[in-house]
Amino acid sequence: MIVASDKHERFNEAPSPTWQRQLSSAIRDPHELCQRLGLSEAWLPGARKGHQLFEVCVPDAYLSRIAHATPDDPLLRQVLPLGDEAVSAIGYVTDPLEEAEHRPARGLIHKYAGRVLLIASPNCAINCRYCFRRHFPYSDNSPSRAEWQDALQYLRDAPSIHEAILSGGDPLAANDRQLAWLVGELEKIPHLKRLRIHTRLPVVIPDRVDSALLDWLGTTRLQKVMVLHINHANEIDQAVIDACTRLKAAGVTLLNQSVLLRGINDEVETLATLSERLFEAGVLPYYLHVLDPVQGAAHFDVPDDEARTIVTQLREHLPGFLMPRLVREVPGEASKTPL
Ligand SMILES: *Cc1c(COP(=O)(O)O)cnc(C)c1O
Ligand code: SF4
Repeated sequence: MIVASDKHERFNEAPSPTWQRQLSSAIRDPHELCQRLGLSEAWLPGARKGHQLFEVCVPDAYLSRIAHATPDDPLLRQVLPLGDEAVSAIGYVTDPLEEAEHRPARGLIHKYAGRVLLIASPNCAINCRYCFRRHFPYSDNSPSRAEWQDALQYLRDAPSIHEAILSGGDPLAANDRQLAWLVGELEKIPHLKRLRIHTRLPVVIPDRVDSALLDWLGTTRLQKVMVLHINHANEIDQAVIDACTRLKAAGVTLLNQSVLLRGINDEVETLATLSERLFEAGVLPYYLHVLDPVQGAAHFDVPDDEARTIVTQLREHLPGFLMPRLVREVPGEASKTPL
């Protein structure tokens, strides 16, 4: 998959990198997903129904960490569509974060002081069933080079902004040529100090952390932070640890955010193991988000009281530096809101 968003890029004749081939051959069919994992036919009707609302996408590298014939596998639960997704629940909406109101330029979301989100790719390498972007109007938000100009001008004119956060979708689903160009433009803006990348790709397809990525990431003058998205210790296999090691060698500070999810990581021991395993991979826990109330995800919800109890107990198991901050995103607030 080569994303040719403007003329220059059509001259890219090089064979596509291995991660792009892995992404194009990801499982995108609910029947194939059930078959590959040895799930009984009973799961198919629900999987088909959920798939119609938000399509299945699971690359092999992630599938390989899911146990066979185990319907409650914590990684499977993140990617297997269910009939429950068609159930509507009060308060669960299609744009829970009201981001549509904070877009001063195409591809740019400015909600918090000192930092902005840039929607660097509309695509993801995996479709997480609880995702708050499952209804996001992506097609409006993936600018080409010419279309980035307004966002870049906005940043040049805003000296209070010190940090650009590449987001998406998943920003690392964009090709390295596009990303290197964008980061090159960002680093010309003198008041920008930091580049942050919010991505799940190094977890989903660890081969994404290849030499082309490390080339632009390792050479930018900006300080680099990468916030990974890992919800369960089983997501961290040796390939993920190796990818983290390469990122750290390129000078990247690694953090992780998780979403607290019913049936996946809503137990103290599971979260403690996740923090320990993250640290073994060189990653520090950052946020533990409560679920955003997005339509189709209500079955993943953990009520606030229970979330607080879990985190209070977690504190008794972990050193302070391995404790994620329990937060919620409240539209209109100036930061994430601690619970
Ligand atoms: C979450 C978020 C950020 C980053 O917030 P931090 O607390 O700095 O991690 C920035 N902009 C938007 C729009 C966000 O949703
Ligand atoms: S990788 Fe992130 S943005 Fe993409 S589907 Fe998963 S949670 Fe959503």
